[in-house]
Amino acid sequence: MRIGQGFDVHRFCPGDHLMLGGVKVPHRFGVEAHSDGDVLLHALCDALLGAAGLGDIGVHFPPSDPAFKGMDSKRFVSIVYDKLTGLGYAVANVDLTLIAEAPKLGPHREAIRCEIANLLSLDKDAVNIKATTTEKLGYCGREEGIAGQAIVLLYKK
Ligand code: MG
Repeated sequence: MRIGQGFDVHRFCPGDHLMLGGVKVPHRFGVEAHSDGDVLLHALCDALLGAAGLGDIGVHFPPSDPAFKGMDSKRFVSIVYDKLTGLGYAVANVDLTLIAEAPKLGPHREAIRCEIANLLSLDKDAVNIKATTTEKLGYCGREEGIAGQAIVLLYKK
């Protein structure tokens, strides 16, 4: 068994939606990002890579590379997942936390679970999505940006 954790932050900018866990969520801001700025999927990629001892998302998808501009982060997860399965790993479960004052995660939680379960060939009950605010403290509390955390467990098939 191998455990990994990931963390990601994106700064808000003018816009009308966020990508969260592969789902388009209406919001009064967008995020500054080279890709689609999906903090949940970026944290998930880092957790998966960390568990496998494969570095981090910046090593595999450098923001300096124009190939990844505007990239759908689901592609990042799929590519990382293929690397893991190539090494003989499967995913046991993932647990993600969104850190934001808004938007509310509740209405989108099941859609996000389905997206991530599909990406990682998991049952939905192996994908947990949580959310917390920071009680209006810090950059998330001031709504300057949004953060995501992920923990995953891998096992060798
Ligand atoms: Mg990111």
